Amino acid sequence: MSIKPFPHIGSIRSLTVPLPGFPALICSNMFVLGSGPITLIDTAPKFPGSLLTLERQLHEIGFDWSDVDRIIITHGHIDHFGLVGQIRRASGHAIPCYVHHDDLWKLSGDFLKSGMWSEDADAFYAKIGMPEQTVAQMKRRSHFFKNLCDPVDDAIPMKDGDIFEGSGFDLQIIHTPGHSPGCCCLYERQHNILFSGDHLLKHITPNPFHEVNRSRLKDPSYKSLKAYMESLEKLEHLNVSFVFPAHGEYITDLESLIAGYRTHHEKRTEEIRQTLKKGVRSIYGLMTDVFPGIEESEAFLAVSEIIVHLELLIEAGNAELVEKGPPELFQAS
Ligand SMILES: [Zn+2]
Repeated sequence: MSIKPFPHIGSIRSLTVPLPGFPALICSNMFVLGSGPITLIDTAPKFPGSLLTLERQLHEIGFDWSDVDRIIITHGHIDHFGLVGQIRRASGHAIPCYVHHDDLWKLSGDFLKSGMWSEDADAFYAKIGMPEQTVAQMKRRSHFFKNLCDPVDDAIPMKDGDIFEGSGFDLQIIHTPGHSPGCCCLYERQHNILFSGDHLLKHITPNPFHEVNRSRLKDPSYKSLKAYMESLEKLEHLNVSFVFPAHGEYITDLESLIAGYRTHHEKRTEEIRQTLKKGVRSIYGLMTDVFPGIEESEAFLAVSEIIVHLELLIEAGNAELVEKGPPELFQAS
């Protein structure tokens, strides 16, 4: 599927690379800001050939990797920082790489060496009642993901309100947790462009992933969907002409996009509440009721979606834990 090209605004350009094996995300977008030296927003995952594809596009707009003097990562998922190591090597200098403080650990060799299967994962999957063969398949898949990135152990932490300036651009960091704890949008104040990472996407509703690695979290009570909805509120009053997401096409109507997300999540919360009214369920059991016939490879996404909505139901007093397990069992209340 091809996408409508991004508009070229001032000194702001886009680079796009395909994402084999991730059809739902369509492609990875990176952004080049400045007239030299240049700032990069995000990098794609480390697929063979991706660096060269991007290099050709960079040459077409008159730059080389050696012109990059800063990389800003919207959040700590491999499809956003995967190529940092290769870009640094190709540039011939140690390009500073920034990511929000709360996602620093996701880029670290310490976390990635375990195949992103942390000390929390086994206990988590037992708690939700996921069958062992599904867990084993997910574990194999997480080891495959690890190969799509190089760790970045010297990333520099950034925080909400930080400003990055350069020739023809002025970026303000807006911390928008939910898709990941350290997820950020970057608001370009000269041209009213919002670089949204995966917080806003046009063609799919972004996933406020449940964070399995709880022991790594700064705030152990972090609830992804709750944080995500609060993050949407932070963007509502911005003057935005274009939203440039990290996957798929650009967006021009921020207001109706956000309204659509709210409706989607409200409906899903209600659907899960109705399912829970039928009787006591484990999280995995709820998942098979709400998403019957789901592929094993999609099990984590589906389970995550159940958990983040269930957390809201519990907080609102509409559901409760009745059996600690494992697996934990829940009922409507
Ligand atoms: Zn992504």
